[in-house]
Order: sequence, then structure tokens, then C-alpha cells
Amino acid sequence: MTDLTRRQFLTLTGASLAGSSLALLGFSPREALAEVREFKLARATETRNTCPYCSVACGVLMYSYGDRSKNATASIFHIEGDPDHPVNRGTLCPKGAGLVDFIHSPSRLKYPEYRAPGSSEWKRITWDEALDRVAALMKADRDANFVTQTEDGLTVNRWLTTGMLAASASSSETGYVTHKVVRSLGLLAFDNQARV
Ligand code: SF4
Repeated sequence: MTDLTRRQFLTLTGASLAGSSLALLGFSPREALAEVREFKLARATETRNTCPYCSVACGVLMYSYGDRSKNATASIFHIEGDPDHPVNRGTLCPKGAGLVDFIHSPSRLKYPEYRAPGSSEWKRITWDEALDRVAALMKADRDANFVTQTEDGLTVNRWLTTGMLAASASSSETGYVTHKVVRSLGLLAFDNQARV
């Protein structure tokens, strides 16, 4: 236990007594702190979203500067749990509570990039270019490696040389559609980000 001098003891007990007495008289800091929160979020734009980290998929409220007009630059400055969301009812774990730092991280990847074979440079490409390239490579690999039957004649219709990793924060409906697309292509290697 930490040793206290007589002066430190009197200072500590005096501060505690003053604090609890003020609270008893109705001067609880809770109301004052709630006002600070209101003031901080006043005039901010509120946007609902889903935490991207894990399969719990908690609902979040994001507060940003800017009123969405064309000449305003939006910038998120506060994120908290969505009290109306059925999954988390306003709560967030430490990872979700730190989302605002993730958003403003200088190393955050915001668009597709491509590094050509043998190159050390990453080049920014459009989403159309990225998706066209992924589709073309998948088709080439499937055409070359799709197996319709095993050696002893058993029909399998499988594609074992490509795998799929699904996003953990997808809704049940998105997960269902993703599963149907993956299995209809014959892919067997299929996992979810939540398990990684
Ligand atoms: S707040 Fe935590 S528990 Fe909720 S989705 Fe994000 S990482 Fe998962």
C-alpha cells in the first residue's frame, strides 16, 4: 500500500468529501459531462455504419464536420456505438472504440493498387480496372484447372486452385449471396475474415 503523509491524507479525504457533498447537493458532474458531449456533436453530420473489424458487426454512429455540400470537406472526428442497433445496443469493444484512428491512419488503404511482376512500385488503378483484372485472372485459372470428374469417373465439378475470403461485416443476405456465387463457381476453399 502507498504511504501517505498526513498532509496528503487530509488533501485526499477533503477532496473526496467535497466531491461527494457536491454530488449530494445536485452538482453531479454527470450532467455537466453530458452537456460537453452535446456541445461537441452539435452541428455535426451523423452517419450510421457497421464496424468493419469482426463478425459481430456492431452498429456505429459516425460524426463528421461538413454539411455534405459540394464545397465542404467532410472529416470524421467522433465515433460511438449506435444505441438503436440490435447487435450492440450502443456498446463497442476497444477495437471498435478506436475506429476514428483507423480512419485517419496514414497507412490506410483507400483504393486499389497494382504492383506489376518484378516491379517494386505500387500503382493506383481504378475499381473497374481492378475488378476486370480479378475477373480475367479467375476465368483463366478456372478454365485451366476446373475438374469435372475424378480419375475413376465420379462427377465433382470443382475448382481447387483459387480460394475466396468473405468479409466478416457482411449482412446475412450478402453472406448468403456470396456463398451461392462461390459454390456455383465450384470453389471449395472458402473462408471468412472473422476466423482469420
Ligand atoms: S466493435 Fe468490436 S465486437 Fe463490435 S464489430 Fe467491432 S471489433 Fe467486433
